[in-house]
Amino acid sequence: MNTEFSSNFAHNPASLNDCPALVLNADFRPLSYFPLSLWRWQDAVKASFQGRVSVIAQYDRVARSPTISINIPSVIVLKGFVRPMKTAAFTRFNLFLRDGFTCQYCGSTGDMTFDHVVPRARGGRTTWENVVASCGPCNLRKGALSLRQAHMHLCQKPVRPSPSQLLNRGRQFPPNHLHESWMDFLYWDTELEE
Ligand SMILES: [Zn+2]
Repeated sequence: MNTEFSSNFAHNPASLNDCPALVLNADFRPLSYFPLSLWRWQDAVKASFQGRVSVIAQYDRVARSPTISINIPSVIVLKGFVRPMKTAAFTRFNLFLRDGFTCQYCGSTGDMTFDHVVPRARGGRTTWENVVASCGPCNLRKGALSLRQAHMHLCQKPVRPSPSQLLNRGRQFPPNHLHESWMDFLYWDTELEE
């Protein structure tokens, strides 16, 4: 796996220097994985003051106002449960994730782009069923041809993934920048899963 490639697409709040808070749903799972639910520290502090969230863990850094000083929250949990989305968002990252960051024509895992199976020039749409991850050479080779014309084959039929399918995929592609206080709430520590 080319980790540099996948990290380019992983949601990444630039750096932890910005002190984002991991936002958990009331059941203590992340509100979303892709992108990972993170709030700016200002929003986390505000929500905490408004009583909308409980603070589970904190950064060492302190935010000061003229009257108070508080530790910046690193993990917060919503007091009200938010129903998770039933369908996976059609995003670049989710599409690459569905395809395992692997060219769906030749199986390579280098730099990746998209390919419309039915070319757009022939009315192909930008949908889960018609867009696949593709390496540059395969993308070039296929061009505006149909699969048959290009004598190319797909490794698997592209379909819309369910959120749980993406979640399972996501175990293999953790973002690079995770604060240690988040780890207990993420599934990336798969040792605990077995
Ligand atoms: Zn390829």
